Amino acid sequence: MNYPGRLLITPPPPGGRYGAFGGTYVPETVMPALVELADEARVAFADSEFLSELAELQRDYAGRPTPIYRAARLSAHAGTEVWLKREDLLHTGAHKLNNALGQLLLARRMGKRRIVAETGAGQHGLATATACALLGLPCVVFMGSEDMRRQAVNVAKMELLGARVEAVESGSRTLKDATSEAIRDWVTNVRDTHYVIGSAVGPHPYPWLVRTLQSVIGVEARQQMLEQAGSLPAVVVACVGGGSNAIGMFAGFLDDPMVRLVGVEAGGRGRAQGEHGASLSLGSPGVLHGANSFLLQDEDGQVAATHSISAGLDYPGVGPEHAMLRESGRAEYAIVDDVGALETFHLLSELEGIIPALESAHAIRWAVEHGPSEPGPILVCLSGRGDKDLDTVLAAGPPP
Ligand SMILES: *Cc1c(COP(=O)(O)O)cnc(C)c1O
Repeated sequence: MNYPGRLLITPPPPGGRYGAFGGTYVPETVMPALVELADEARVAFADSEFLSELAELQRDYAGRPTPIYRAARLSAHAGTEVWLKREDLLHTGAHKLNNALGQLLLARRMGKRRIVAETGAGQHGLATATACALLGLPCVVFMGSEDMRRQAVNVAKMELLGARVEAVESGSRTLKDATSEAIRDWVTNVRDTHYVIGSAVGPHPYPWLVRTLQSVIGVEARQQMLEQAGSLPAVVVACVGGGSNAIGMFAGFLDDPMVRLVGVEAGGRGRAQGEHGASLSLGSPGVLHGANSFLLQDEDGQVAATHSISAGLDYPGVGPEHAMLRESGRAEYAIVDDVGALETFHLLSELEGIIPALESAHAIRWAVEHGPSEPGPILVCLSGRGDKDLDTVLAAGPPP
């Protein structure tokens, strides 16, 4: 099968800025590495040999293109046509591998001999450890000790793949702290180490780099909708943690003004600070992990605690391009609570025989709730599969 490996390659945003957002708020010792990464990525994205090697791995190793699937029983339930982009069928079970494979090829191109990454639920750590095994590079994954306890299976998988998992004991011992620790390691070892960030966040060029590597989702899905559904979707929906599966999906449709773009954030247990992960909907502008964007913070600018039943959405920040898209009105952002995501986890399992990641269940929930008022097909990014969430779901009790 011919697979051209389609990425949407755009020039990096001037100054790494997305309107008022983005930028590079980092110690000056890291600046040369960021400049090197931006330069190398620009050259690589113009190099047909690099692109065809990436495309070959995407196809033969990762399993691209992932299908789109018209979910008939879910559509009947939702009262509108719902299509799912099946990133759950990608190797390692989520969209994270699109980014990890591309960044690993870049790291090798730059002559880096060591890889560090952060992880929350472990999906990005798993994708990075997988890509490191594939290319034979040593891998250190920083993970909060609380997350290591909650996601013991992913810790075991990463170790099987040859990665070293470093327990992070600072702060809330979750993703935010693991990210800070990974950045600290990178700053110390920047000469021979590449930092594989897991979402479309962080200082420039990461948001642009990750978006470009994840744009394969949206570029494929747009063509598949035209071929299989016979039209563009009326609405494209994706869950938003840091925002990488959403921005990758949106990238394919940004130039189609009639396509409505909806990002879904984690409403958690309620609207009070500390109970949710809705950085765009309920946060305010500020700097976290090297970029200016929306984040959850108190009046002193201290980063707030967050909660979501899905570890992948349990993060106080969000990528700067989403902040810009929200401000311009090109994309809109909604909230789905833990309870709605849990219900939808069971719903999709029973109606379609697909066990979705709890993250993805947030996006599907939006389609189910808003389906009847939408004119045409809704395309939802099914960002990952739900095996990793079984313990959480079973602990929550039987379906309502
Ligand atoms: C990590 C993850 C997310 C959230 O990350 P984004 O960068 O917002 O895409 C969503 N779904 C799954 C399955 C994940 O593993």
